[in-house]
Amino acid sequence: MRRSKAFIPTTKEAPSDAVLASHIFLSRAGFISQVASGLYSYMPLAKKVIRKIENVIHEEMANVGAQEVELSFVAPSDLWIESGRIDKFGKELLRFYDRKEKLFVLGPTHEEMMVDLVRNRITSYKNLPLNLYQIKTKFRDEVRPRFGLMRGREFIMKDGYSFHASVEDLDREFNALEDAYKRIIKRLGLDFRVVEADSGAIGGTGSKELMVLADSGEDTIAVCDKCEYGANIEVFMDMEELGEDFDASSVSDIKELKGDDNCPHCDGKLSLTKGIEVGHIFKLGTTYSKALKAEFLDEEGKSKPFIMGTYGMGVSRLVAAVIEQHHDENGCIWTKETAPYTINIMISNVKDEAQNTLGEELYLKLLGENIEVMIDDRKDRFGFKMKDAELIGFPFTVIIGKELENGIVQIFNRATREKISVPSGEIYKK
Ligand code: ATP
Ligand code: MG
Ligand code: MG
Ligand code: MG
Repeated sequence: MRRSKAFIPTTKEAPSDAVLASHIFLSRAGFISQVASGLYSYMPLAKKVIRKIENVIHEEMANVGAQEVELSFVAPSDLWIESGRIDKFGKELLRFYDRKEKLFVLGPTHEEMMVDLVRNRITSYKNLPLNLYQIKTKFRDEVRPRFGLMRGREFIMKDGYSFHASVEDLDREFNALEDAYKRIIKRLGLDFRVVEADSGAIGGTGSKELMVLADSGEDTIAVCDKCEYGANIEVFMDMEELGEDFDASSVSDIKELKGDDNCPHCDGKLSLTKGIEVGHIFKLGTTYSKALKAEFLDEEGKSKPFIMGTYGMGVSRLVAAVIEQHHDENGCIWTKETAPYTINIMISNVKDEAQNTLGEELYLKLLGENIEVMIDDRKDRFGFKMKDAELIGFPFTVIIGKELENGIVQIFNRATREKISVPSGEIYKK
Protein backbone atom coordinates (compact mmCIF):
# COMPACT_ATOMS: atom_id res chain seq x y z
CA MET A 1 0.00 0.00 0.00
CA ARG A 2 1.14 3.52 -0.75
CA ARG A 3 0.80 5.84 2.19
CA SER A 4 -0.01 8.68 -0.23
CA LYS A 5 -3.16 6.79 -1.31
CA ALA A 6 -4.06 5.12 1.99
CA PHE A 7 -7.13 6.12 3.96
CA ILE A 8 -5.43 6.52 7.32
CA PRO A 9 -6.65 9.79 8.82
CA THR A 10 -4.22 10.27 11.70
CA THR A 11 -4.81 13.17 14.09
CA LYS A 12 -3.17 14.88 17.05
CA GLU A 13 -6.39 15.01 19.03
CA ALA A 14 -7.87 12.11 20.94
CA PRO A 15 -11.65 11.87 21.57
CA SER A 16 -12.52 13.95 24.63
CA ASP A 17 -13.81 10.95 26.60
CA ALA A 18 -10.84 8.69 25.82
CA VAL A 19 -8.83 7.60 28.84
CA LEU A 20 -7.39 4.24 27.74
CA ALA A 21 -4.32 3.98 25.52
CA SER A 22 -6.13 1.71 23.06
CA HIS A 23 -9.03 4.14 22.69
CA ILE A 24 -6.70 7.13 22.28
CA PHE A 25 -4.24 5.54 19.88
CA LEU A 26 -6.72 3.55 17.75
CA SER A 27 -8.63 6.81 17.25
CA ARG A 28 -5.60 9.03 16.68
CA ALA A 29 -3.89 6.56 14.35
CA GLY A 30 -6.94 6.33 12.11
CA PHE A 31 -8.09 2.79 12.91
CA ILE A 32 -11.55 3.52 14.31
CA SER A 33 -14.10 6.29 14.26
CA GLN A 34 -16.88 6.69 16.79
CA VAL A 35 -20.35 7.05 15.32
CA ALA A 36 -22.37 7.20 18.53
CA SER A 37 -22.00 5.88 22.05
CA GLY A 38 -20.58 2.34 21.80
CA LEU A 39 -20.74 2.32 17.99
CA TYR A 40 -17.61 2.42 15.87
CA SER A 41 -16.68 2.34 12.21
CA TYR A 42 -13.57 0.41 11.32
CA MET A 43 -11.22 2.05 8.87
CA PRO A 44 -8.80 0.10 6.62
CA LEU A 45 -6.08 -0.45 9.25
CA ALA A 46 -8.58 -1.82 11.78
CA LYS A 47 -10.12 -4.07 9.14
CA LYS A 48 -6.69 -5.54 8.46
CA VAL A 49 -6.01 -6.21 12.14
CA ILE A 50 -9.46 -7.74 12.61
CA ARG A 51 -8.93 -9.98 9.59
CA LYS A 52 -5.61 -11.15 10.98
CA ILE A 53 -7.16 -12.06 14.31
CA GLU A 54 -10.01 -13.81 12.52
CA ASN A 55 -7.57 -15.81 10.42
CA VAL A 56 -5.77 -17.08 13.51
CA ILE A 57 -9.15 -18.03 14.99
CA HIS A 58 -10.23 -19.84 11.80
CA GLU A 59 -6.97 -21.80 11.70
CA GLU A 60 -7.21 -22.90 15.30
CA MET A 61 -10.91 -23.75 14.96
CA ALA A 62 -10.12 -25.92 11.94
CA ASN A 63 -7.48 -27.68 14.06
CA VAL A 64 -10.10 -28.78 16.57
CA GLY A 65 -12.65 -29.68 13.92
CA ALA A 66 -15.08 -26.81 14.53
CA GLN A 67 -17.12 -25.80 11.49
CA GLU A 68 -17.96 -22.25 10.51
CA VAL A 69 -21.56 -21.13 10.05
CA GLU A 70 -23.24 -17.74 10.07
CA LEU A 71 -26.53 -17.09 11.79
CA SER A 72 -28.70 -14.07 11.17
CA PHE A 73 -28.01 -11.05 13.35
CA VAL A 74 -31.69 -10.37 13.84
CA ALA A 75 -33.38 -13.06 15.92
CA PRO A 76 -37.09 -13.73 16.42
CA SER A 77 -38.06 -13.00 20.03
CA ASP A 78 -39.99 -16.33 20.09
CA LEU A 79 -36.72 -18.20 20.60
CA TRP A 80 -35.81 -15.94 23.49
CA ILE A 81 -39.21 -16.49 25.04
CA GLU A 82 -38.77 -20.23 24.58
CA SER A 83 -35.42 -20.18 26.40
CA GLY A 84 -36.79 -17.91 29.10
CA ARG A 85 -33.94 -15.46 28.57
CA ILE A 86 -35.94 -12.56 27.19
CA ASP A 87 -36.49 -11.11 30.67
CA LYS A 88 -33.27 -12.32 32.25
CA PHE A 89 -31.13 -10.50 29.69
CA GLY A 90 -32.82 -7.22 30.56
CA LYS A 91 -32.13 -3.99 28.77
CA GLU A 92 -28.91 -5.21 27.16
CA LEU A 93 -31.17 -7.02 24.71
CA LEU A 94 -32.29 -4.59 22.01
CA ARG A 95 -35.83 -5.34 20.88
CA PHE A 96 -37.84 -3.98 17.98
CA TYR A 97 -40.92 -4.67 15.87
CA ASP A 98 -40.99 -5.33 12.17
CA ARG A 99 -43.73 -3.98 9.88
CA LYS A 100 -45.97 -6.92 10.76
CA GLU A 101 -45.68 -6.05 14.45
CA LYS A 102 -43.60 -9.12 15.15
CA LEU A 103 -41.02 -8.71 17.94
CA PHE A 104 -37.34 -9.26 17.14
CA VAL A 105 -34.06 -8.86 19.01
CA LEU A 106 -30.55 -8.01 17.86
CA GLY A 107 -28.40 -11.03 18.75
CA PRO A 108 -26.21 -10.35 21.81
CA THR A 109 -25.07 -14.03 21.79
CA HIS A 110 -26.52 -16.94 19.83
CA GLU A 111 -27.27 -19.96 22.03
CA GLU A 112 -30.97 -19.96 21.08
CA MET A 113 -30.33 -19.50 17.38
CA MET A 114 -27.69 -22.22 17.30
CA VAL A 115 -29.85 -24.72 19.18
CA ASP A 116 -32.69 -23.91 16.79
CA LEU A 117 -30.40 -24.55 13.83
CA VAL A 118 -29.34 -27.95 15.11
CA ARG A 119 -32.57 -29.27 16.63
CA ASN A 120 -34.48 -31.63 14.34
CA ARG A 121 -31.46 -31.77 12.04
CA ILE A 122 -29.12 -33.76 14.26
CA THR A 123 -31.26 -36.54 15.66
CA SER A 124 -28.86 -39.36 16.50
CA TYR A 125 -25.88 -39.87 18.80
CA LYS A 126 -24.10 -41.12 15.66
CA ASN A 127 -23.82 -37.54 14.42
CA LEU A 128 -22.36 -36.21 17.65
CA PRO A 129 -20.25 -34.41 18.70
CA LEU A 130 -20.84 -31.32 16.63
CA ASN A 131 -19.01 -28.04 17.04
CA LEU A 132 -20.21 -24.96 15.16
CA TYR A 133 -18.94 -21.41 15.35
CA GLN A 134 -19.24 -18.03 13.72
CA ILE A 135 -17.52 -14.67 13.79
CA LYS A 136 -20.24 -12.10 13.82
CA THR A 137 -21.38 -8.68 14.92
CA LYS A 138 -23.21 -8.70 18.24
CA PHE A 139 -25.30 -6.02 19.87
CA ARG A 140 -25.67 -5.41 23.58
CA ASP A 141 -27.19 -2.22 24.84
CA GLU A 142 -24.54 -1.89 27.55
CA VAL A 143 -25.32 0.40 30.49
CA ARG A 144 -21.88 1.96 30.23
CA PRO A 145 -20.40 1.60 26.77
CA ARG A 146 -16.87 2.95 27.12
CA PHE A 147 -13.18 2.60 26.47
CA GLY A 148 -13.52 2.43 22.69
CA LEU A 149 -13.52 -1.11 21.33
CA MET A 150 -13.16 -2.53 24.81
CA ARG A 151 -16.84 -2.20 25.65
CA GLY A 152 -18.88 -1.35 22.60
CA ARG A 153 -22.58 -1.80 22.10
CA GLU A 154 -21.99 -3.22 18.64
CA PHE A 155 -18.92 -5.48 18.66
CA ILE A 156 -17.48 -8.53 16.93
CA MET A 157 -17.53 -11.86 18.71
CA LYS A 158 -16.39 -15.31 17.77
CA ASP A 159 -19.05 -17.54 19.28
CA GLY A 160 -18.97 -21.30 19.21
CA TYR A 161 -21.33 -23.99 20.47
CA SER A 162 -20.76 -27.70 20.86
CA PHE A 163 -23.29 -30.52 21.09
CA HIS A 164 -22.58 -33.82 22.83
CA ALA A 165 -24.15 -37.14 23.76
CA SER A 166 -22.31 -37.41 27.09
CA VAL A 167 -20.76 -35.29 29.82
CA GLU A 168 -17.41 -37.01 29.23
CA ASP A 169 -17.47 -35.95 25.62
CA LEU A 170 -18.29 -32.36 26.58
CA ASP A 171 -15.35 -32.41 29.02
CA ARG A 172 -13.02 -33.59 26.27
CA GLU A 173 -14.21 -30.93 23.84
CA PHE A 174 -14.08 -28.22 26.50
CA ASN A 175 -10.43 -29.05 27.18
CA ALA A 176 -9.65 -29.06 23.45
CA LEU A 177 -11.31 -25.65 23.08
CA GLU A 178 -9.46 -24.27 26.09
CA ASP A 179 -6.19 -25.33 24.45
CA ALA A 180 -7.25 -23.81 21.12
CA TYR A 181 -8.18 -20.54 22.85
CA LYS A 182 -4.82 -20.45 24.62
CA ARG A 183 -3.03 -21.02 21.31
CA ILE A 184 -4.98 -18.17 19.70
CA ILE A 185 -4.17 -15.64 22.41
CA LYS A 186 -0.55 -16.76 22.52
CA ARG A 187 -0.18 -16.45 18.75
CA LEU A 188 -1.55 -12.93 18.94
CA GLY A 189 1.41 -12.15 21.20
CA LEU A 190 -0.54 -11.53 24.39
CA ASP A 191 0.33 -12.25 28.00
CA PHE A 192 -2.72 -13.87 29.58
CA ARG A 193 -4.14 -16.13 32.30
CA VAL A 194 -6.94 -18.64 32.18
CA VAL A 195 -9.09 -18.12 35.26
CA GLU A 196 -12.06 -19.80 36.87
CA ALA A 197 -15.16 -17.72 36.38
CA ASP A 198 -18.68 -17.26 37.52
CA SER A 199 -21.23 -18.71 35.08
CA GLY A 200 -23.28 -15.49 34.97
CA ALA A 201 -26.66 -14.97 33.31
CA ILE A 202 -26.15 -17.81 30.83
CA GLY A 203 -26.09 -20.41 33.60
CA GLY A 204 -24.40 -23.79 33.71
CA THR A 205 -21.21 -25.00 35.36
CA GLY A 206 -17.56 -25.21 34.34
CA SER A 207 -16.72 -21.68 33.38
CA LYS A 208 -13.34 -20.24 32.42
CA GLU A 209 -12.26 -16.84 31.22
CA LEU A 210 -9.18 -15.88 29.24
CA MET A 211 -7.81 -12.72 30.75
CA VAL A 212 -5.26 -10.54 29.02
CA LEU A 213 -3.16 -9.02 31.79
CA ALA A 214 -3.33 -5.23 31.75
CA ASP A 215 -3.72 -2.58 34.44
CA SER A 216 -6.64 -1.11 32.52
CA GLY A 217 -8.61 -4.38 32.68
CA GLU A 218 -12.10 -4.11 34.11
CA ASP A 219 -11.88 -7.48 35.84
CA THR A 220 -10.00 -8.20 39.03
CA ILE A 221 -8.45 -11.64 39.14
CA ALA A 222 -6.66 -13.60 41.81
CA VAL A 223 -3.55 -15.38 40.55
CA CYS A 224 -1.24 -17.85 42.23
CA ASP A 225 2.47 -17.03 42.48
CA LYS A 226 3.43 -20.70 42.14
CA CYS A 227 1.05 -22.51 39.82
CA GLU A 228 -1.22 -21.73 36.86
CA TYR A 229 -4.27 -21.22 39.06
CA GLY A 230 -6.27 -18.06 38.68
CA ALA A 231 -9.84 -17.01 39.43
CA ASN A 232 -12.06 -14.06 38.68
CA ILE A 233 -12.79 -12.63 42.12
CA GLU A 234 -16.49 -12.86 41.22
CA VAL A 235 -16.07 -16.54 42.05
CA PHE A 236 -15.50 -15.65 45.69
CA MET A 237 -18.47 -13.30 45.90
CA ASP A 238 -22.19 -13.66 45.92
CA MET A 239 -22.87 -11.38 42.99
CA GLU A 240 -26.63 -11.58 43.41
CA GLU A 241 -26.36 -10.41 46.97
CA LEU A 242 -23.96 -7.62 46.04
CA GLY A 243 -26.16 -6.45 43.18
CA GLU A 244 -25.44 -5.47 39.60
CA ASP A 245 -23.92 -2.13 40.54
CA PHE A 246 -21.27 -3.63 42.79
CA ASP A 247 -17.87 -2.60 41.50
CA ALA A 248 -15.58 -5.61 41.77
CA SER A 249 -12.59 -3.45 40.87
CA SER A 250 -12.94 -1.76 44.26
CA VAL A 251 -11.75 -4.92 45.99
CA SER A 252 -8.06 -4.57 46.75
CA ASP A 253 -7.35 -7.34 49.19
CA ILE A 254 -7.96 -11.03 48.52
CA LYS A 255 -8.09 -11.82 52.25
CA GLU A 256 -11.05 -9.45 52.64
CA LEU A 257 -12.98 -11.56 50.17
CA LYS A 258 -11.83 -15.09 50.63
CA GLY A 259 -10.73 -15.02 54.26
CA ASP A 260 -7.18 -16.05 53.35
CA ASP A 261 -4.81 -15.83 50.39
CA ASN A 262 -4.05 -19.53 50.01
CA CYS A 263 -4.07 -21.07 46.55
CA PRO A 264 -6.67 -23.86 46.43
CA HIS A 265 -4.38 -25.96 44.20
CA CYS A 266 -0.93 -25.68 45.74
CA ASP A 267 0.91 -24.10 48.66
CA GLY A 268 1.36 -20.82 46.75
CA LYS A 269 -0.16 -17.45 47.60
CA LEU A 270 -2.84 -15.56 45.71
CA SER A 271 -2.55 -11.92 44.76
CA LEU A 272 -4.87 -9.60 42.86
CA THR A 273 -4.25 -8.20 39.41
CA LYS A 274 -6.28 -6.77 36.53
CA GLY A 275 -7.42 -8.54 33.41
CA ILE A 276 -9.30 -7.89 30.18
CA GLU A 277 -11.82 -10.66 29.50
CA VAL A 278 -11.10 -11.64 25.90
CA GLY A 279 -12.57 -15.11 26.01
CA HIS A 280 -15.14 -17.05 27.98
CA ILE A 281 -15.83 -20.75 27.66
CA PHE A 282 -18.33 -22.78 29.59
CA LYS A 283 -20.12 -26.02 29.96
CA LEU A 284 -23.76 -25.25 29.44
CA GLY A 285 -25.04 -28.74 30.04
CA THR A 286 -28.66 -29.13 29.00
CA THR A 287 -29.99 -25.67 29.96
CA TYR A 288 -30.80 -24.64 26.40
CA SER A 289 -31.47 -28.00 24.83
CA LYS A 290 -34.07 -28.72 27.52
CA ALA A 291 -35.72 -25.32 27.23
CA LEU A 292 -35.82 -25.52 23.44
CA LYS A 293 -36.56 -29.25 23.33
CA ALA A 294 -33.52 -30.09 21.27
CA GLU A 295 -33.06 -33.84 21.52
CA PHE A 296 -31.28 -36.79 19.96
CA LEU A 297 -31.70 -40.56 20.19
CA ASP A 298 -29.01 -42.30 22.22
CA GLU A 299 -27.60 -45.80 21.64
CA GLU A 300 -30.64 -47.38 23.28
CA GLY A 301 -33.05 -45.35 21.19
CA LYS A 302 -33.95 -43.07 24.08
CA SER A 303 -34.61 -39.38 23.51
CA LYS A 304 -32.18 -37.09 25.35
CA PRO A 305 -31.40 -33.37 25.38
CA PHE A 306 -28.04 -32.36 23.88
CA ILE A 307 -25.26 -31.68 26.34
CA MET A 308 -23.71 -28.39 25.28
CA GLY A 309 -20.69 -26.18 25.60
CA THR A 310 -20.33 -22.54 24.57
CA TYR A 311 -17.17 -20.67 23.62
CA GLY A 312 -16.98 -16.91 23.16
CA MET A 313 -14.11 -14.66 22.17
CA GLY A 314 -14.17 -10.89 21.82
CA VAL A 315 -12.59 -10.18 18.43
CA SER A 316 -12.94 -6.39 18.45
CA ARG A 317 -12.05 -6.30 22.16
CA LEU A 318 -8.86 -8.20 21.29
CA VAL A 319 -7.82 -5.37 18.96
CA ALA A 320 -7.97 -3.03 21.97
CA ALA A 321 -6.34 -5.59 24.27
CA VAL A 322 -3.28 -5.84 22.02
CA ILE A 323 -2.76 -2.09 22.36
CA GLU A 324 -3.47 -2.03 26.09
CA GLN A 325 -0.60 -4.45 26.49
CA HIS A 326 1.62 -3.09 23.71
CA HIS A 327 1.99 0.66 23.47
CA ASP A 328 4.17 3.51 24.66
CA GLU A 329 3.66 7.27 24.83
CA ASN A 330 4.19 7.52 21.06
CA GLY A 331 1.45 5.14 20.03
CA CYS A 332 0.62 1.55 19.07
CA ILE A 333 3.11 -1.33 19.01
CA TRP A 334 1.52 -4.18 17.04
CA THR A 335 2.63 -7.74 17.62
CA LYS A 336 3.86 -9.92 14.76
CA GLU A 337 0.53 -11.65 14.12
CA THR A 338 -1.63 -8.54 14.56
CA ALA A 339 0.30 -5.83 12.70
CA PRO A 340 -1.70 -4.33 9.83
CA TYR A 341 1.60 -4.01 7.93
CA THR A 342 4.86 -5.62 9.00
CA ILE A 343 7.20 -3.24 7.22
CA ASN A 344 6.97 0.46 6.51
CA ILE A 345 9.39 1.85 3.97
CA MET A 346 10.16 5.45 4.78
CA ILE A 347 11.44 7.54 1.93
CA SER A 348 12.86 10.47 3.81
CA ASN A 349 12.88 12.88 0.89
CA VAL A 350 10.74 11.91 -2.08
CA LYS A 351 12.52 14.47 -4.26
CA ASP A 352 15.74 12.48 -3.90
CA GLU A 353 15.99 10.12 -6.86
CA ALA A 354 18.30 7.55 -5.25
CA GLN A 355 16.04 7.29 -2.17
CA ASN A 356 12.98 6.86 -4.36
CA THR A 357 14.55 4.24 -6.57
CA LEU A 358 15.74 2.09 -3.67
CA GLY A 359 12.42 2.50 -1.83
CA GLU A 360 10.34 1.51 -4.84
CA GLU A 361 12.60 -1.43 -5.64
CA LEU A 362 12.44 -2.74 -2.08
CA TYR A 363 8.68 -2.19 -2.00
CA LEU A 364 8.10 -4.30 -5.12
CA LYS A 365 10.41 -7.05 -3.96
CA LEU A 366 8.70 -7.33 -0.58
CA LEU A 367 5.27 -7.29 -2.22
CA GLY A 368 6.49 -10.14 -4.40
CA GLU A 369 7.28 -12.11 -1.24
CA ASN A 370 3.74 -11.50 0.08
CA ILE A 371 5.09 -9.40 2.91
CA GLU A 372 2.65 -6.77 4.09
CA VAL A 373 4.42 -3.57 3.31
CA MET A 374 3.59 0.13 3.29
CA ILE A 375 5.68 2.71 1.48
CA ASP A 376 5.61 6.24 2.82
CA ASP A 377 5.88 8.15 -0.43
CA ARG A 378 4.35 11.38 0.88
CA LYS A 379 5.96 14.74 0.36
CA ASP A 380 5.77 15.61 4.07
CA ARG A 381 8.70 16.24 6.38
CA PHE A 382 10.65 13.23 7.65
CA GLY A 383 9.98 14.05 11.32
CA PHE A 384 6.25 14.23 10.72
CA LYS A 385 6.23 10.94 8.84
CA MET A 386 8.24 9.17 11.55
CA LYS A 387 5.85 10.36 14.26
CA ASP A 388 2.99 9.06 12.15
CA ALA A 389 4.70 5.69 11.71
CA GLU A 390 5.24 5.39 15.45
CA LEU A 391 1.64 6.31 16.18
CA ILE A 392 0.38 3.62 13.78
CA GLY A 393 2.89 1.14 15.17
CA PHE A 394 4.45 -0.69 12.21
CA PRO A 395 6.84 -3.26 13.74
CA PHE A 396 9.67 -2.19 11.41
CA THR A 397 10.38 0.95 9.44
CA VAL A 398 13.14 0.94 6.85
CA ILE A 399 14.47 4.48 6.79
CA ILE A 400 15.92 5.50 3.47
CA GLY A 401 17.44 8.90 4.14
CA LYS A 402 20.54 11.07 3.86
CA GLU A 403 22.83 8.20 4.89
CA LEU A 404 22.08 6.54 1.58
CA GLU A 405 24.81 8.77 0.12
CA ASN A 406 27.20 6.65 2.22
CA GLY A 407 25.44 3.45 1.16
CA ILE A 408 23.60 3.07 4.49
CA VAL A 409 19.91 2.67 5.36
CA GLN A 410 18.39 2.06 8.76
CA ILE A 411 15.89 -0.31 10.28
CA PHE A 412 13.81 1.16 13.08
CA ASN A 413 12.35 -1.36 15.51
CA ARG A 414 9.09 0.05 16.90
CA ALA A 415 9.07 -2.05 20.07
CA THR A 416 12.63 -1.27 21.17
CA ARG A 417 12.89 2.06 19.28
CA GLU A 418 16.38 1.02 18.23
CA LYS A 419 17.81 1.90 14.85
CA ILE A 420 20.32 -0.35 13.20
CA SER A 421 22.37 0.61 10.15
CA VAL A 422 22.48 -1.75 7.21
CA PRO A 423 24.39 -1.43 3.94
CA SER A 424 21.76 -0.52 1.33
CA GLY A 425 22.76 -3.48 -0.83
CA GLU A 426 21.90 -5.88 1.99
CA ILE A 427 18.63 -4.35 3.09
CA TYR A 428 16.40 -6.73 1.17
CA LYS A 429 18.13 -9.79 2.56
CA LYS A 430 18.14 -8.32 6.06
P1 ATP B 1 -18.07 -8.45 30.20
O1 ATP B 1 -17.90 -9.15 31.51
O2 ATP B 1 -16.83 -7.72 29.78
O3 ATP B 1 -19.30 -7.62 30.12
P2 ATP B 1 -19.40 -10.73 29.22
O4 ATP B 1 -19.01 -11.69 30.27
O5 ATP B 1 -20.71 -10.06 29.32
O6 ATP B 1 -18.24 -9.60 29.09
P3 ATP B 1 -19.63 -12.89 27.32
O7 ATP B 1 -21.10 -13.02 27.34
O8 ATP B 1 -18.82 -13.86 28.09
O9 ATP B 1 -19.25 -11.38 27.76
O10 ATP B 1 -19.18 -12.81 25.78
C1 ATP B 1 -18.03 -13.43 25.23
C2 ATP B 1 -16.92 -12.41 24.93
O11 ATP B 1 -17.39 -11.31 24.14
C3 ATP B 1 -16.34 -11.75 26.17
O12 ATP B 1 -15.40 -12.59 26.79
C4 ATP B 1 -15.72 -10.48 25.60
O13 ATP B 1 -14.41 -10.74 25.12
C5 ATP B 1 -16.64 -10.14 24.43
N1 ATP B 1 -17.55 -9.03 24.79
C6 ATP B 1 -18.61 -9.09 25.62
N2 ATP B 1 -19.21 -7.89 25.71
C7 ATP B 1 -18.49 -7.05 24.92
C8 ATP B 1 -18.63 -5.66 24.59
N3 ATP B 1 -19.61 -4.92 25.09
N4 ATP B 1 -17.72 -5.12 23.74
C9 ATP B 1 -16.72 -5.87 23.22
N5 ATP B 1 -16.54 -7.17 23.49
C10 ATP B 1 -17.43 -7.77 24.33
MG1 MG C 1 -21.28 -8.16 29.83
MG1 MG D 1 -17.76 -11.16 32.14
MG1 MG E 1 -18.17 -13.56 30.06
